[in-house]
Amino acid sequence: MIEVKETSDVQAVQSVIDQLSKFDHEQVLFCQDKTTGLKAIIAIHNTVLGPSLGGTRMWAYKTETEALTDVLRLSRGMTYKSSLAGLNLGGGKAVIIGDARKDKSEALFRRFGKFVNSLAGKYITAEDVGITTRDMELVALETEHVAGLPEYMGGSGDPSPVTAYGVYMGMKASAKQQYGSDSLNGKKVMVQGVGHVGATLVDYLVKEGAQVMISDIFEDSLKAITNKHSQVQVVALDQVYDVDMDIYAPCALGATVNDDTINRLKCSIIAGAANNQLADETVHGKVVMEKGIVYAPDYLVNAGGIINCYWEVIGYNREAAMSQTEEIYNTALRIFAKSADEQIPTYLAANQLAEARIEAIKHVQSSF
Ligand code: NAD
Repeated sequence: MIEVKETSDVQAVQSVIDQLSKFDHEQVLFCQDKTTGLKAIIAIHNTVLGPSLGGTRMWAYKTETEALTDVLRLSRGMTYKSSLAGLNLGGGKAVIIGDARKDKSEALFRRFGKFVNSLAGKYITAEDVGITTRDMELVALETEHVAGLPEYMGGSGDPSPVTAYGVYMGMKASAKQQYGSDSLNGKKVMVQGVGHVGATLVDYLVKEGAQVMISDIFEDSLKAITNKHSQVQVVALDQVYDVDMDIYAPCALGATVNDDTINRLKCSIIAGAANNQLADETVHGKVVMEKGIVYAPDYLVNAGGIINCYWEVIGYNREAAMSQTEEIYNTALRIFAKSADEQIPTYLAANQLAEARIEAIKHVQSSF
């Protein structure tokens, strides 16, 4: 017989619900299936603007608490990202607890798809870290609530080119704010990470006459760029933060603006695709402002991917997705103006605009 330790069980439940109420999450679904070994958590943060959309991450979390913390944080981030991008989408995210190299199976993903389906469209999933297109194809066998599928499955394909366009727009708006002109001609731009997004961003920058520098851990990724654009300079990994640059474009990892790098960065603009660029937004967001650097909030400028997914959900139209992504330029200018007027860091101005839109629409939704 299983011994139920009533007091501690009640405490555990309370602590989960406390975590949900901290950032006002609507619903969290814990999924387990012994046969397939599936252990997953789906978090729905907010659906005021529309169904929640956000990728599924597969990661070998050390504890379930770590997985829960991650999915709560990420789903909240999606609410803000979609709100600021002007999408009729809420924020959600899922995590599958497991090793992406060892624990995958057809049955596991199809079982996960059943759980997604049980939410009846309140959560729409997509790819994230550790998940491939093939995995999502399996999920899609069990639910129609999947976005970001390849073109041959009726999806919109790789979102990276759209994301890169949004980063480019955010960078141009930052230049307008910092230099009075949005031209990037002659500007020294350091692109850290030339993967899917970084490589397309380099194309836009070279076309506009920027002096582009690149860095990557993979030699072949660097070669692919320099073969195409011989004028692009390669910078060693450990010199990225010390080079003479106007614009730093982090397109690899998060948290690269941190205690170690912030005083080394000689740029006047930070605008890139990576998520969570500020190691601690309250600390580094303020320091960046005090140093006179224009920081284009990451979740604004990298929203092209979610915009592309949104158009896939409502009926794909590439032109409309690109044109809505172009709006990142105007939204960035609004954020910079608010930041300057109120003397607050740009990340905070972005958060406040995202929250204001949700509040305004909540009011609209309250009438029939
Ligand atoms: P990617 O994996 O294709 O590219 C990342 C590149 O960074 C790789 O080439 C990798 O080798 C390189 N890299 C890793 N560590 C590095 C380091 N220390 N220094 C320099 N380079 C390093 O990923 P991506 O799709 O191009 O996305 C780039 C970033 O943008 C990621 O942080 C991602 O989460 C974020 N993002 C991407 C999209 C999208 O549509 N792809 C959307 C939103 C946000």
